[in-house]
Amino acid sequence: MIKANDPNRKSWIPVEKDSDFPIQNIPFGVFETTRGDVTIGTRIGDTAIDLAALHQLGYFEGIELPDDIFMQESLNPFISLGKPTWRAVRDKIAEIFDSNNIEIKHKAEVLHEMPSVKMKLPVEVGDYTDFYSSREHATNVGTMFRDPDNALMPNWLHIPVGYHGRASSIIPSGTPIHRPKGQTMPKDATEPVFGPCKLLDFELETAFITADGKPLGDNITTAEAEDYIFGMVLFNDWSARDIQKWEYVPLGPFLAKNFASSISSWIVTLDALEPYRTAGPTQEPKVLPYLEYEGDKNYDINLEVAIKPENTEETCVSKSNFKYLYWNMAQQLAHHTINGCNIHAGDMMGSGTISGPTPDSYGSMLEISWQGTKPVTMKDGTERKFILDNDTVIMRGYCENNGLRIGFGEVSTKVLPAK
Ligand code: CA
Repeated sequence: MIKANDPNRKSWIPVEKDSDFPIQNIPFGVFETTRGDVTIGTRIGDTAIDLAALHQLGYFEGIELPDDIFMQESLNPFISLGKPTWRAVRDKIAEIFDSNNIEIKHKAEVLHEMPSVKMKLPVEVGDYTDFYSSREHATNVGTMFRDPDNALMPNWLHIPVGYHGRASSIIPSGTPIHRPKGQTMPKDATEPVFGPCKLLDFELETAFITADGKPLGDNITTAEAEDYIFGMVLFNDWSARDIQKWEYVPLGPFLAKNFASSISSWIVTLDALEPYRTAGPTQEPKVLPYLEYEGDKNYDINLEVAIKPENTEETCVSKSNFKYLYWNMAQQLAHHTINGCNIHAGDMMGSGTISGPTPDSYGSMLEISWQGTKPVTMKDGTERKFILDNDTVIMRGYCENNGLRIGFGEVSTKVLPAK
């Protein structure tokens, strides 16, 4: 077992019962302290831990780490050190904050109350790819826009379909966005019009962050893939449905997707998610040999989406689960690199919208409101077909079994009116 995952370990840092961040999580992130210092850190309960300060105090002695590895504005250099190092650092952090070891308790420069720190983007995203790996989502979209009898395209059951997205507009939780403007073709019109998007939508996704891969020309197999995945975040892939509908043929989405994608602040490592492995859906027809895999490669991660209109309470509009994904992360990475495409530390790969089998588990308003034909009633009595100005969309995710909960916190984004 991975030492840091010991389910019996307790921390001397207080952790509330339903916290996503017990001592068994130990995610990685980047934050700014009240003094304006930017540092790499982790979190236990509601306490943010400055790893640069811990390193300076000598707590990582015995692990080969550059002196300034945690004094960075992104986790990319740390991720480049590779899985044995991430694992050793996580194990060491678990040991330092174990309830049997209170030596550091009085070193105030290491610990910060969560509300006092400002979370930043955890990685500098070099390249961003978005997959389309939920069979339920692809079927729903195919049913609405093409042919219910042939909802899946002929390639879908053979290829983890994806496209290259835009890294520059990936933003951390808490950063508001403006409603995008663009070109659309109104129904029954003969000429396109320009203006604010009318059908603004979220996509409930997760994303994984990669390590440095192999040289250009080499591929990563499904068996090797997890050694090249640092961890996961929640991912809201904002989508302008009306812009998308007009622009997406023949090369796929462009401006409908690249105005913003929001991620949760803490990267939860694959090591922390290890106890929540589960089998994925049966893949029939049989996949090509390079996409075959062994063992459980899905994870049981509860996901939910809430919409919070301004000045009122939020309403949950979807409860889904990462385990529904047809194509797993190992297959996505194996497919991405099978042609020799290389990857770097800090690259981000979106799962694609994660819809479950029932309407209450759909991962976008497009599906939940079925193209606007089934509005959702909010707790304040207003209706939503898509996202309105001043709404905040909040996604949450957590794993739970045997009384232990490992979570991602949330990704929360407010939509401001078009500029
Ligand atoms: Ca997407």
